[in-house]
Amino acid sequence: MMVVMTPDATPAQIEAVVERLEAAGVHAKVMPGELTTAIGAIGDPEGVREMGLEGLPGVDQVIPISRPYKLASSELSHHEPTTFEVDGRRVGGGETFCLIAGPCTVESAEQTREVARVVAAAGASMLRGGAFKPRTSPFSFQGLGLEGLEILADVRAETGLPVVSEMTSASVADRFADAVDVIQVGARNMQNYGLLEVVGKLDKPVLLKRGLSSTLDELLMAADYVLKEGNERVILCERGIRTFDTAMRFTLDVGAVPWLKLHTHLPVIVDPSHASGDRRLVGPLSRAAAAAGADGIIVEVHPDPEVALCDGPQQLFAADFEGFAREVEAHAGLLGRRLA
Ligand code: PEP
Ligand code: MN
Repeated sequence: MMVVMTPDATPAQIEAVVERLEAAGVHAKVMPGELTTAIGAIGDPEGVREMGLEGLPGVDQVIPISRPYKLASSELSHHEPTTFEVDGRRVGGGETFCLIAGPCTVESAEQTREVARVVAAAGASMLRGGAFKPRTSPFSFQGLGLEGLEILADVRAETGLPVVSEMTSASVADRFADAVDVIQVGARNMQNYGLLEVVGKLDKPVLLKRGLSSTLDELLMAADYVLKEGNERVILCERGIRTFDTAMRFTLDVGAVPWLKLHTHLPVIVDPSHASGDRRLVGPLSRAAAAAGADGIIVEVHPDPEVALCDGPQQLFAADFEGFAREVEAHAGLLGRRLA
């Protein structure tokens, strides 16, 4: 339910509503708007209806919210699209396009540094790189772990690029909070609710990837787990889903971009690398994402993908990145966006 306050409601009246809700075990989220403040009441709708909040001073109306996701819903947001900065790079808000690029996996300081220099020179907004890799087989390379995080922190200091990296376990949360600028929750962990609550508490932007077989409703409910911890800086990522078609690694759901734009206030980016599994498709899919209104993309780049320890076939050659970036930038420009 959403409690809409009157335009002249006082802070004390707003607080009184919040206290009533919380005393009844209902999660209350205050959303100040330009004219009025709304309070999201997340809990049993029948219970909230029976509380008689309409009678309280300063309350205008109590409106049901029909969607299964609450805090992520554009119905509830009651404000402009969520936008925030990551070290000066604006995410969301419709004016910028985030070009996040880097190796699938941090393999060495040299490899990471080389890619970072190339993507920084081409105007990338952030550097990606996995230190902890969620591999399908336990016998595949699992990433350099904490050593990888140190390499990322060094390269961040050298290049000034903010770093995005995936956290696969809550046990390393403190290290991530220090070493990276955006914490990625991978597709395989989208419904790891305990992990979502931990990243929700870290006071860092979160890049939440859509699960391999997750619906968009499920993605938004997963985002609710982070948002309910008070962390509003969540970026959603469409990264391809499983369908009947096995021609590509996954099927990129481009429609997810405009659908999410309608149903949530959160920024939306696309990962064409994992979606396609094929570097020849990464350019067209990146341009499609930009033209469909995505707030950015996250792509894999390697100095020599043929010897990459993970995801070689989909990583762009670093030497091709400049040309790739210019084409993506032009497509983002079609919607009036510039690189963040
Ligand atoms: C990644 O971005 O490194 C990754 C493993 O992606 P996903 O979780 O989408 O498979
Ligand atoms: Mn990868």
